[in-house]
Amino acid sequence: MSVSDRQLRELLGRCWAGPVAWDEPLAKWSSLRVGGPAQALVKPGSSEAVQRLLMGCESVGLPWLVIGGGTNLLVAEAGFPGLVLVLGREFGAISECGIDQDGRCLVEVEAGCSLARLLGWSQRRGLSGLEFSVGIPGSVGGAVVMNAGAWGREIKDVLAGLQLLLPGGVMERRDSQAREFSYRRWSGPAGALVLSATFALTPADPLGIKALCREYLRGRQVKQPRGVASAGSFFKNPPGDYAGRLIEAAGLKGLTVGGATVSPVHANFLVNTGVATAAEMLALMRLVQGKVMAKYGIWLEPEVRIVGESGRPVES
Ligand SMILES: Cc1cc2nc3c(=O)[nH]c(=O)nc-3n(C[C@H](O)[C@H](O)[C@H](O)COP(=O)(O)OP(=O)(O)OC[C@H]3O[C@@H](n4cnc5c(N)ncnc54)[C@H](O)[C@@H]3O)c2cc1C
Repeated sequence: MSVSDRQLRELLGRCWAGPVAWDEPLAKWSSLRVGGPAQALVKPGSSEAVQRLLMGCESVGLPWLVIGGGTNLLVAEAGFPGLVLVLGREFGAISECGIDQDGRCLVEVEAGCSLARLLGWSQRRGLSGLEFSVGIPGSVGGAVVMNAGAWGREIKDVLAGLQLLLPGGVMERRDSQAREFSYRRWSGPAGALVLSATFALTPADPLGIKALCREYLRGRQVKQPRGVASAGSFFKNPPGDYAGRLIEAAGLKGLTVGGATVSPVHANFLVNTGVATAAEMLALMRLVQGKVMAKYGIWLEPEVRIVGESGRPVES
């Protein structure tokens, strides 16, 4: 359901005291640098503020969308007719909260903290487990929802618990449930927002952690395009194969629609050369899907979350 700006103003007047960006271009909040406007955008700094906002949205049936770093997001030209909540640094506290039975340090992190900041903190503190995530941009909340991973490790491997906000404004703490996580996917309760994540990290030599991060980063730098707008790997790898290998073997490196191009460096990166529109990114995605399907009979599912014309994220 769409709600007029006047109704949304009244709603925000009741449940939000901070600044509101009206008609905010979501291209500014997405690493692909494309996408139309959000009706309104706010940046809450506490669980209670997020709770009040979502309960307000629920009370009038207003769609909401939560964004962390926007590094796995493709927003269509139509934008998002509803309230966008950006969880960033102001909702990014890190705190140690105990030791588990295996002697690992439990660290609770609010969803808006960037993975990079968390990794820097854990390096300095001499806590190992998150090294694989070096170079993955975005927030802790986004990393949980995407079950972000690299080098054979995933967020779920170090996740001990979650604090969720459920429909109806219910806050729930729960242990991490391994069965809810699969490749680049968390299938938690419908409509849940991740407020914080607790990681179980192992005490280790800070210099060893640093050395491993450096090694992973070097590996990343030779494989991935740099200095261009992207959302990382665009498609999920199909079972037993790699999306990048299939796209390259189909001869699609360099394929271009307007300002959108299949990276000549890594075929699973669809990049914005600077002037692409969301429609061009989507057209390139469909072209690649169609050509790979025609040649290999394999349908590539986007890993990137697409916020569609209807304003609803398209689940991959
Ligand atoms: C250069 C580059 C390299 C990358 N390399 C990797 C890689 O090696 N491995 C990898 O797995 N990914 C990689 N990515 C993709 C991306 O960085 C990850 O998926 C990241 O974890 C997304 O986090 P985010 O905060 O940016 O999520 P966003 O893009 O902001 O959101 C992604 C989805 O999560 C939802 N979401 C965000 N926060 C919350 C929350 N708190 N509660 C509920 N839902 C939420 C959003 O609504 C959206 O559906 C890369 C991206 C780039 C640009």
